[in-house]
Order: sequence, then C-alpha cells, then structure tokens
Amino acid sequence: MKVGLSIGGGVRALEGINPADLVEDGFSSVFVACYEREMLWHAPRTADFTRTCQSAGLEVYAVPLGYGRVMDPDPSIDSLYVREHPHHCQVDSRGRRCAKACPNNPSFLEWFASNMRTLAWLLECRGFLWDEPSFYYARGGWACRCEYCRRLFFAEHQQQLPADLDDAVVRFRRSSMLMFLLASAAAIQAVDRRLLSLVMPGSSMSSREAGIGLDEWGALPGSSAVDELSAYASWEQGRTDMETAIRATHEAISTPARKHHKRSVLWIAGSPHPRDKLLDALRVAHLAGVQHLVIAGYQSLVASPAYERFRAPMARVIGQLQ
Ligand SMILES: [Zn+2]
Repeated sequence: MKVGLSIGGGVRALEGINPADLVEDGFSSVFVACYEREMLWHAPRTADFTRTCQSAGLEVYAVPLGYGRVMDPDPSIDSLYVREHPHHCQVDSRGRRCAKACPNNPSFLEWFASNMRTLAWLLECRGFLWDEPSFYYARGGWACRCEYCRRLFFAEHQQQLPADLDDAVVRFRRSSMLMFLLASAAAIQAVDRRLLSLVMPGSSMSSREAGIGLDEWGALPGSSAVDELSAYASWEQGRTDMETAIRATHEAISTPARKHHKRSVLWIAGSPHPRDKLLDALRVAHLAGVQHLVIAGYQSLVASPAYERFRAPMARVIGQLQ
C-alpha cells in the first residue's frame, strides 16, 4: 500500500518541508495544493518543491485550488478570477450571481484550461486532482442559470431551462460538470498525455445538489475524464466507526474503478493524537485492500509538535504494509 500526504498551506508550508524526510517517514506520494493567488507570484517556488520531491522519489500530484472556485472543497479559499469576473460567475435560481465561475462560460473555460496547461508545464508531477468540483447549491437555490447555461439547455432540449431543479436540470448540471472535467483533463494531457486526471467528488453534497457528488462514485469511472477516483473516508462525526468508514468507502470506489480498469485513492484525516488512531487506520486500510491511501493533511500531522515522537512508529507501520 502506498501512503501519501496532502500538503495544504501554500508556499510557506512547502519551505519547512524536506522531501527526503517524507520518504524516510514512509510516504510515497504528495498532493500539493496550488492556490490561484499564490501561483501568480510563487509558481517557481512550487515548481522547485515538486522537482525536489520527484528527485527524492515521491510521486507528486497537483491540486489546483481557487481558479474560479468550480473545484471548491473549502469556502475560505479565495479566487481572484471570481473577484475580477463576476459576470462569468454562476447565476442562481433567484437570479443572483454566486462566488463560483460557471463551467459553461467559454471565457472562464479558456482561462481555466490555459492556467492548467501552465501548471502542467511548470510542475513535475504525475497528475492533477480535481477536488470537489461543484455547481452552487443552497437550500432553496441552485445554479446555474447564466446566459450560456440557458442557451446550452435550450439547444439540447428545445425548451427553456426550468426554474425548478427537475430531473432534466439535474442531468444537465451533471453532464456540464463532466464536460468541464473532460476539458480539465484534456488541458493537462495536451502538455503531457501521461498526466493522470484524478477526481474527488464533493464529500457533503449529492449529485442532485452539486452536479456530481458523493453518490456518483459508481458512475464516474466510466468517464474518460477520470483516470483515478478519489474519495474521503470520514468517521469524525461519529455516525460510523473508523473500520466501517474505511472499508465501505474503499469498496464503494474501488469496485466501479476496477470495472473500468482504473485505480482508486482513499483519503483519511490524520494526526499523531491517539484519539485519531492513525496507525490503526493504516493497518485497516491495508487489510481492506487499499492500494493508495492519502493522509490529509500536512498541518495536522507532520507540522504538529507531537510528530517528532510519532514519525518513527509510523514509518515502521508503513514499512510493514508495503
Ligand atoms: Zn452558467
């Protein structure tokens, strides 16, 4: 079983990391968050970091965040594009602009693809993770009803885009999101066709709400936008225990992925705190047949003061599971 680490926190976090230490601690891969705002000024520093990781033997995956906020796992992540192009943003069912660019807006699509091509040129990596792509949805409101979405819907159905989120609209939002993921994968693969496209559907919304969501695990690997399917196994809210969460989530993504000869990547939270039982979770994932497990994230684990005492036992456990 490969064990990876997701690194958020931007270039300041990268400066404190020695990739050779991560290899020594048993990690085989890193998922590096690339924030739209930071990449404007600090892309070379991120590129240097990915190069050092590759040289140390780590597989690197880029996780673009911000960038119009279609990939939107964290509402606190800002996007300059959204600020500067409010007229390219999604329009909700009450006619209000939302703080998310519309994946059907051609100007946004062009800008996004061009930025992803640049990242793919700059960063030495194995692939990109598209983290929680979604349309805007809130109780009583959904997007998108911008002029492009209305035109596209009319062209497909010869009728106006309904005001209610009916089944035709649900299908339209889903296919729009899949087209966006196809365009995203095509952008990076135009630079290097070996670059993998990993998709992590939203962990809290359904497909009806987000376009694609956590109920989409079974169908997504059928899309050529998806080379590997990712999902987050969560047990923090106490609705289920750790072992059940890991086994059930792994089963739900690995079975459909295998059917399409694709791989899956399971994500878990992790810290050195005994309450989090990270070493037990590693063993459970291995027994469940997980091939690539990613620990999110860097701040709670490696940057934690308790990590110094935790790293040797963790490296021993990871070593036993390889
Ligand atoms: Zn739209």
